[in-house]
Amino acid sequence: MIRKYDINEFASYLEDSSGMSKGYAREIVFPESEREVLECIREANEKKFRITVSGAGTGIVGGRIPYGGSILSTDKLNRISEITTDKGGKIGRAIIEPGVRIEDLKKEAKKAGLTYLPDPTEQNAFIGGTVATNASGARGFKYGATRNYIDKLNVVLANGQLLKIARGRRILKDKLCFDFSDGSRAQCALPDYAIGRIKNSAGYFLGQGTDLIDLFIGQEGTLGVITRIEVKLNMLPGDVISGVGFFKSAETALEFVSILKKQACAKFHNKEEKNIDACCLEYFDRNALKILQTKYAQIPKQKAAAVYFEEEVQDGNPLLLMGRYAKVLTQLEIPEKDIWFSDASSYAQLFQNMRHELPCLVNEIVKNNGFAKISTDISVADGHFLAMHAFYENKLKETKVPYCMFGHIGENHMHINFMPESEQMFNKAKGLYRELLHEAVRREGTIAAEHGIGKLKAEYLETMFNKRHIKQMVAVKKTVDPNLILGIGNIFKEDYLSQV
Ligand SMILES: Cc1cc2nc3c(=O)[nH]c(=O)nc-3n(C[C@H](O)[C@H](O)[C@H](O)COP(=O)(O)OP(=O)(O)OC[C@H]3O[C@@H](n4cnc5c(N)ncnc54)[C@H](O)[C@@H]3O)c2cc1C
Repeated sequence: MIRKYDINEFASYLEDSSGMSKGYAREIVFPESEREVLECIREANEKKFRITVSGAGTGIVGGRIPYGGSILSTDKLNRISEITTDKGGKIGRAIIEPGVRIEDLKKEAKKAGLTYLPDPTEQNAFIGGTVATNASGARGFKYGATRNYIDKLNVVLANGQLLKIARGRRILKDKLCFDFSDGSRAQCALPDYAIGRIKNSAGYFLGQGTDLIDLFIGQEGTLGVITRIEVKLNMLPGDVISGVGFFKSAETALEFVSILKKQACAKFHNKEEKNIDACCLEYFDRNALKILQTKYAQIPKQKAAAVYFEEEVQDGNPLLLMGRYAKVLTQLEIPEKDIWFSDASSYAQLFQNMRHELPCLVNEIVKNNGFAKISTDISVADGHFLAMHAFYENKLKETKVPYCMFGHIGENHMHINFMPESEQMFNKAKGLYRELLHEAVRREGTIAAEHGIGKLKAEYLETMFNKRHIKQMVAVKKTVDPNLILGIGNIFKEDYLSQV
């Protein structure tokens, strides 16, 4: 197992994509097998030093940034052991190690005619990181988050025990109880907070009737190191049509989305065969479009919003499908010139580039401004989104801090990115950020829909969970991490750890 002690050799592992200041660690270790992970964790647990698990570092909440102790990199745990197909090639599974990149998993799955549907936008992310944060993809509207695709996990718990879990085998009732192979037992009461049904990656997914495997999906490296993952694969979709509608008013864009969502819902319930069944619905506000225009001059000027959509072609007729979208847009009086379709393959690629590039362009602006980015990862319950959007618009109108808003509107999930240019603007944006979080929670929403809490948002966990519930989560952590060695600072502020 490689160990490095010279900080110059592992400086890049002291940061991630959050823009948070660099951490510090005395060493980095690169285990090459589950057995070596066990060795590292057992040593840390015995000697009581901290370990921070590192994936690809694409996380945006500081989860892999270490503050002391060792870094455990999963870079060398990158084998795909098996890809199998089932049901006449329509579904399959892959058994993989945590350091496999999403891009590589998809490449290998494709050879078997399969794909990995959660597909987070950042293709360099490791599968282990995406499980640890319960990441979501652009097609989350139709396919949901990572959680839905994880069937089995091996986890080296912080106490040095190896846990092998399969979905459906341990449904929790009353208490969380582990009987370990050495005859020892660890247990605690189950938390009693409600687990909402919206897209969420904040806090532990745990309560009466939950599956034990789900506790380890979205745990952000605070309970154990994920060492082996069995994921579901699905048949590769055939052709995908995509398009963008550009709107003069945000209200019309929201109406368009609402029509598409209703149609997809009816189709899901088999009510109407000829309905639109979008798999991806992405929103761009006026400011996001302005940023994109700096790179894509062909984007229409003076538009208040745009909605990007994708749908898989099921009946072999892409033109018919595009016609259904065009009909809705025309009914909303959107002129033909403001509707783009991917009937030329270069256009399809252009749309994808636009969507992927926006966060990168924002990050560049933020970097040049020299003040940290403040960005929301808020999703609210269906039925609350229109009111939440109006709240966003009103509050943002008042602020003089540059911002843009974009995101997974199909799941009521918006990223508002503040790009402060001065200390004063930074503080103003921080205050507004907190207000938006409170409003989201009031609207049955989450403060972290897909990125997790990490270290960046630990101070805001109290906006979503009360102190008693946070302490219940800390008790869960202490059940498998009695010496508090793993992922310290992630999810919980450190002072909570000493209160339980
Ligand atoms: C341009 C860009 C676009 C993005 N788009 C999306 C998107 O569409 N959807 C989305 O959800 N996110 C997105 N992200 C965020 C990021 O890609 C995800 O959070 C991803 O899941 C992080 O994976 P990683 O391997 O980089 O993990 P890291 O950043 O290295 O770590 C993330 C967390 O997981 C823990 N961890 C990592 N591996 C393990 C393991 N094996 N066992 C236990 N804990 C572990 C770490 O300790 C840390 O807390 C985007 C980021 C960027 C920069």
